[in-house]
Amino acid sequence: MDPHLAAEALIDAGRRLGARGLISAGEGNLSIRLDADRVLITPSGRRKDELAGDDLVVLWLGHPDRDATSRSGRPASSDLAIHLAVHAARPELGAIVHAHLPASMALTLAGEVPDPAALPETALLVPRLPYVPYGAMGSDDLAERVAAALTAPPDPPADAVLLERHGAIAVGADAETAVDRLELVEVLCRTWRDALLIRAARGRDGIVTSTGPGLPEEGR
Ligand SMILES: [Zn+2]
Repeated sequence: MDPHLAAEALIDAGRRLGARGLISAGEGNLSIRLDADRVLITPSGRRKDELAGDDLVVLWLGHPDRDATSRSGRPASSDLAIHLAVHAARPELGAIVHAHLPASMALTLAGEVPDPAALPETALLVPRLPYVPYGAMGSDDLAERVAAALTAPPDPPADAVLLERHGAIAVGADAETAVDRLELVEVLCRTWRDALLIRAARGRDGIVTSTGPGLPEEGR
């Protein structure tokens, strides 16, 4: 992909994540495959909804220079190990997007893993959403487990993974498609969370109210 078009697509995708409330402060990271050997990736320590072309970092696959910096002098994303591992494992991909989706972090913190088959849109567009247990941010261990989850059979492989207490990662032929999938993962997580809250509010899970324990089964 032409580097200028790739930079525009990354900057637009970052703005979209911000506009949807899916990233805060310096959270999140995005990458686009430029060609067989190179990836364009967002920097660390910068808001991803306020990026400029000079902030983006070019990385070489296979023999990545992990000290590579942008023209503005910023280092590559602290999650670059994930991007390198997934681009190496799925060479057909155009883009990888990661964000600390708020509802997904709440659910996984509570030990809940939503099923994408529950909603028609996720059933169609994110039919598989593997769950990856917690790993240190930026570690090779986490990167390897994410790449494995995104390549595991059956075909076609999953295009998104849910990370324990660390949001989600989505991939696609281009940045727009990857951001779409990330948005849908957050919609699924919000819906799942709200359904749990409504069910609890009805008293089915023995909710404790301010006037005493558990609503009675009858009279509701
Ligand atoms: Zn992260």
